[in-house]
Amino acid sequence: MPTVELARGREKSVINGHPWIFSGAIDRIKGSPGIGETVKVAAYGGEPLGLGAFSPGSQIRVRMWSNDPDGDIDRSFFRLRIERAVKTRVSLPAAGIETTAYRLVNGESDWLPGLIVDRYGDFLVCQFLSAGPEYFKDLFLSLLSELKPLTGIFERSDADVREKEGLALKKGLLWGCEPPELIEITEGPCRFLVDIRAGQKTGFFLDQRANRARLAAYCNGAELLNCFSYTGAFAVRALKAGALFATNLDESGSALELCSRNMELNGIGRQRFDNLQGNAFKVLRQYREQGRRFDIIVLDPPRFVDSRSHLMRASRGYKDINLLALNLLRSGGYLFTFSCSGLLSPELFLKIVADAALDAGREVRILERLGQAPDHPVGLHFPEGNYLKGLICRVW
Ligand code: SAH
Repeated sequence: MPTVELARGREKSVINGHPWIFSGAIDRIKGSPGIGETVKVAAYGGEPLGLGAFSPGSQIRVRMWSNDPDGDIDRSFFRLRIERAVKTRVSLPAAGIETTAYRLVNGESDWLPGLIVDRYGDFLVCQFLSAGPEYFKDLFLSLLSELKPLTGIFERSDADVREKEGLALKKGLLWGCEPPELIEITEGPCRFLVDIRAGQKTGFFLDQRANRARLAAYCNGAELLNCFSYTGAFAVRALKAGALFATNLDESGSALELCSRNMELNGIGRQRFDNLQGNAFKVLRQYREQGRRFDIIVLDPPRFVDSRSHLMRASRGYKDINLLALNLLRSGGYLFTFSCSGLLSPELFLKIVADAALDAGREVRILERLGQAPDHPVGLHFPEGNYLKGLICRVW
């Protein structure tokens, strides 16, 4: 088997269980491993550390499958990993009771780097995001096709990160029956339509489920601005829980169309919501000019940071949007603010919101700190997996 030997002193994070080996940590490669092929990883000097998947095109050159250098990366290895991931989910309170849609496999945090599997009712939606899972795709498919209930497996490997891996973007049916145009799921008291073919990510932001439930607890009688609304999930949840009115703001027209259908599906009349297509940065400025005010604002922007070099620019974006939102809240209002950028630490996010509050001249208290739902677990040795951060703030 080809061997990737690390540079002197670079073995520590691998031994500690971190799954990524960057190209700069490698001293030499013995043999010529193909894309996604399993390689032995060794410390400087040759002591074997484990086995990983080789990604020649990526800065993350190897993703560790296992810290056992003598094991086999084969069907029974992956079967165990998938079984553990599934067991973790089916015993969660959310699975089956609170929702019919959840993340079944969460990549690195389930010791399956690069593999995402989301369940939407009887359909699975997969993302093979790096060379390793792509190499073992048939094996994963045959294991996943044994899960029940199952009507079909659909691939959404059309995420940009595939390009960094030198992999083509792919999308389509992999197994079983074609999914319907829209799949209906439940989440607590709500029903949602999900477009797994063309929706963002695998179709729905499952990671925000628990935070939508938190919003429900705060919103009785409130007028809500759901900024970066996508298909309106936060607003549907709030309106079902007694919010009076919600404005959904998103730049995507197709997301807002689906938002209207979700409102209808939940029996929420047109008089209780408004959908606005536009750039949140512009619209919030217009609202400021117009003196618009809200009781609750949800700010759930897309990932602004895709590389460390963009951290400064992204931080300014987060500060700007939080500052704008703070100024639109009535005294005593609530800000639900989020960042899903894994590269932005919770501490830095907190500092950005604090700076925004200072500039806005508002007095702000943190009531709750939020994260991703438990079907998106975080590997203890993989802090990058803790990407979603949120704060519920009381604003005076
Ligand atoms: N809160 C949503 C998920 C939001 S995802 C939920 O719970 O389902 C982020 C959304 O921001 C996407 O729908 C995207 O279309 C939208 N978006 C991205 N940039 C934007 C911008 N500048 N202005 C308005 N919407 C934007």
